[in-house]
Amino acid sequence: MSIFHEITSGMLDLLFPRQPYCLVCNNKLEPGKVLVCHSCESRVKPLSPPLCRKCGRSLLTPDIAAAGNEGLSAAGFYKDRAQHLCRDCRAREHFFVQARSFGQYEGVLRELIHHFKYGGKRELAGFLGEGMVRTLEQISWPAFDYIVPVPLHIKRERERGFNQAYLLAAVVSRHTGIPIFKGFIRVKPTEHQTLLDKPLREQNLSGAFEVVDKAVLNGKTLLLIDDVYTTGSTADECSRTLINAGADCVFVLTCARG
Ligand SMILES: [Zn+2]
Ligand SMILES: [Zn+2]
Repeated sequence: MSIFHEITSGMLDLLFPRQPYCLVCNNKLEPGKVLVCHSCESRVKPLSPPLCRKCGRSLLTPDIAAAGNEGLSAAGFYKDRAQHLCRDCRAREHFFVQARSFGQYEGVLRELIHHFKYGGKRELAGFLGEGMVRTLEQISWPAFDYIVPVPLHIKRERERGFNQAYLLAAVVSRHTGIPIFKGFIRVKPTEHQTLLDKPLREQNLSGAFEVVDKAVLNGKTLLLIDDVYTTGSTADECSRTLINAGADCVFVLTCARG
C-alpha cells in the first residue's frame, strides 16, 4: 500500500471508525459484516422444543435433568402433554398469556447482549431484533395492536444512553408494522434484579410501572418486549400493570432466556 493510501485509509478510519475485528472471537470481520463474524453469528441458536407452553422455557435445561426424569419422556417432554409446563409455571399463575424467546441466555448470545447493553454497541439491535422477528414468525399468536417495550427508569436510561428493550422493539416494529406504545413508563428506580432473591424481586418491582395514556390501551392485545427473561418477575409486573390499565391481554417476546 502506498503511503498516500495508508494516510487516506487512516483518515477514513478516524472519520468513520469501524470495528475491524469480531467482538466475540477477535478474528478479522468478513466484508459486509458489522461487529460479529459469520461463524460467531451461526453459533447463536434459536431455542428449540420442548418448551414450556406457558413461559417458553426450555424443558431440557440442566435443572430439569437434575430433578430426575420423573414424568418426563426420554426427549424431556412431559409425558402428560396437557401439563407440558415448567416447574415455575406449575407453581404459579402468570399475568401474561404466553412468553417466548429467541435463544438461551448463554455463550455467544449472552456475550452479544452484554456488549449491546453495557458496552454501548447499539448496532447489535439489528441482529438481536431480527432473531426475535424470526421467533415471532414461527408462533401463532394473535394480531397485535401495540408493541410495548419494558421501560427503564429515566435515571437508568440517561446513564446508559438508551433503553435496550426500546431498540429491540423498534426492530420488531419495523419488520412487522406494529406500532410502539410509548406511554408505558417506569416510575420507581429499582435495584438490579439480579442481586435480589425472588420475594425481594417482586417487592422491588411492585408499583414500578405506570401507564400514562390508559384510554389508548383499552381492550388492546399487546406484545411486551424485553432483552432477557430471567425469573419472569418483570414480565409479570408489566403485564399486570398493562391489564389493570385496560389492556385485554399481553404476550411476551424476549431476545434471550435466562
Ligand atoms: Zn467471531
Ligand atoms: Zn414455564
